[in-house]
Amino acid sequence: MTQKRKKIAIYSISFFLLFIFTYAFPVDKSTALLIEKELEKNIPEIIKIRRYLHMNPELSNREFETAKLVASRLMALGLDIKTRVAKTGVTALLRGEQEGLTVAIRADMDALPIQEMTNLPYKSLNPGVMHACGHDIHTSIVLGSAMVLQSLRDKIKGNIKFIFQPAEEGPPPGEEGGANLMIQEGVLEDPPVAAIMGFHVWPENIGEIYFTPGPLFSSSDTFQIGIQGKSSHGAKPHEGIDAIVIASHVIISLQSIISRSLDPTDPAVLTIGTIKGGTKANIIAERVILEGTVRTLTETNRMKAAHIIDEITRGITSSFGADYTLEYRKGPPPLYNHPELAKDLLPTLKTILGETKVKTIKPQMVSEDFSFYCQKIPGFYFLLGVKSLSQNSMAPLHSPYFNPDEKSLSLGLKLVCHLLIDCLEKMSPHENDAS
Ligand SMILES: [Zn+2]
Ligand SMILES: [Zn+2]
Repeated sequence: MTQKRKKIAIYSISFFLLFIFTYAFPVDKSTALLIEKELEKNIPEIIKIRRYLHMNPELSNREFETAKLVASRLMALGLDIKTRVAKTGVTALLRGEQEGLTVAIRADMDALPIQEMTNLPYKSLNPGVMHACGHDIHTSIVLGSAMVLQSLRDKIKGNIKFIFQPAEEGPPPGEEGGANLMIQEGVLEDPPVAAIMGFHVWPENIGEIYFTPGPLFSSSDTFQIGIQGKSSHGAKPHEGIDAIVIASHVIISLQSIISRSLDPTDPAVLTIGTIKGGTKANIIAERVILEGTVRTLTETNRMKAAHIIDEITRGITSSFGADYTLEYRKGPPPLYNHPELAKDLLPTLKTILGETKVKTIKPQMVSEDFSFYCQKIPGFYFLLGVKSLSQNSMAPLHSPYFNPDEKSLSLGLKLVCHLLIDCLEKMSPHENDAS
């Protein structure tokens, strides 16, 4: 072969190889392969961790052993960790090898006061306590994502903060806890977190995810109304002030807030869950206590509903000559999926799951304290299908029979890893961006 031909051959081979590596194996493809490899390596351990957590559930603000396990695994990975955040919370920071912003992923760790009724070989060993909301799956997936992504640090443009949060189901009475306290204790700072992601297992087909841009979940406030009347003999109602009759008027009138005072295109729910009052069939009741919940998808409706509950109760009780007290307790705000962030992450979801498996869902009137993070920074929250394809239906969340398909672990893990990497990639300044 002549010198010239040799040169041409070398150039051609080099060009061919360059073409192959540039187009046939773009960066994201090679990252996907690495994620797949790390996932396969780690998944048996993740399943073990999930089963351990399922067998050892702990109530809100009491996630001591769960937090210990999480912290020890994160420490073994060499991550920068903080413990006892908002009581039992744990955070870990993974620093990517490339410059960039910080995104966070949050898992909740607490279980519920429910006696498990499944026959699983790894059912709860803690009587009266069960992971009936799937937070064992959330914790395992996010812990797994730290294990996988730690091996891919050179592919990561920025930092990832892993947030393991206690008390999503609400702290015990008289205690603080949950997302709000995590924020107060600085989880969104040092370094500042630019966006946050979260997810929840959902009793729909495995392989599918559900989300919607904008409001996804409602706020959840509770209230207690005390109606103070005056007792008298049941045969002489005119000598007393009947707190039960007044309470009945209040209950019926409160429903008119939804039907008459709030915009019908902006859904809201008002439920009175308990009525307690009276002592005997033939005594006019002196006192009634009502307890209820208000759920809205917007802050406007939320503020309006709280205000009108007070107005109606005041008006009705005063017209009967009774007194009242109203204790209105604000819970999580509506959960708002940042539309731009959702738009940026949609291609990732569709690539992994397939176009038809990424489903939009109507806003749900349930709540999740992840919404506190979304009030501060852009947030993205999705629902991960966990119903086995062999089942027609599955026990709902908070059921003693709740049993998510474990295959959701590897799928959730894959999604979380890709979402985090792609989110950082999308948010990092690009060379051709205007300065
Ligand atoms: Zn729950
Ligand atoms: Zn939950």
